[in-house]
Amino acid sequence: MSARLPHVGQLAISHILNMRDTMRPLIAGNWKMNGLGDSLHEIERLVAELLEQPAAADILICPPFTLIDRAEALVRGSAIQIGGQDCHVDASGAHTGDISAAMLADSGAKAVIVGHSERRANHGETSARVAGKAKAAHVSGLMPIICIGETEAERNAGHVLEIVLSQLRDSIALVPAPNYVIAYEPVWAIGTGKTPTLQDIADIHSAIRGALIDHEAEPGKQVRILYGGSVKPDNAAAILCLPHVNGALVGGASLKATDFMKIIRAA
Ligand code: PEP
Repeated sequence: MSARLPHVGQLAISHILNMRDTMRPLIAGNWKMNGLGDSLHEIERLVAELLEQPAAADILICPPFTLIDRAEALVRGSAIQIGGQDCHVDASGAHTGDISAAMLADSGAKAVIVGHSERRANHGETSARVAGKAKAAHVSGLMPIICIGETEAERNAGHVLEIVLSQLRDSIALVPAPNYVIAYEPVWAIGTGKTPTLQDIADIHSAIRGALIDHEAEPGKQVRILYGGSVKPDNAAAILCLPHVNGALVGGASLKATDFMKIIRAA
């Protein structure tokens, strides 16, 4: 698979060689449509463990909307922050069932995931729409976590970088760097137990970094790029030490405090 990826040399290689990865990693958990009130015990466990031994990473948990304010009350004063999983482009209005970025911020959220592949696939979200959501988040004081990633068919057709970089370009268009986080999540790796090779992850993250720098030189160096897709306690350390991997977006393994803590400790 690595052989099909264009070499990163085309993408601002001098910038890449000159920079060092000194960013504090971000470990973000995406609970998706999982979690009732009982699940808040998992957050309580994380808070207690981090009090005993602080983490070397920033930590974010994105529970369903229904748990945000209760979760935020539990983590207040701890190293954990709470985020949403999606927001509308508008601040308010006739959008039954939707949540605005301003509402998330009002509930205590500090960040929001936008453009997750499940939103792109199940709700027809385009990168232009994702850019609007990222802007709405930024305007409301939230850090947008912008997800990008290719499908298995796109990968098999050899179009990984073309897809990923075009999603990137269109999704970041409305927010100035470094006021967003990128999550590279190959769609075929989400919830499947499959991951790209370490070399592929490193190559794609380097290409994303190059594109960010081409877009906005200095600020582009400061944008955190997370890897997401079947990150587990046993593969987290190897992934998190790759160049230009500045953290992880974790789905299934973020639901249990013991697994999520192992990933946090790997950072
Ligand atoms: C995700 O949904 O963002 C994700 C990375 O899921 P998982 O870790 O379960 O693959």
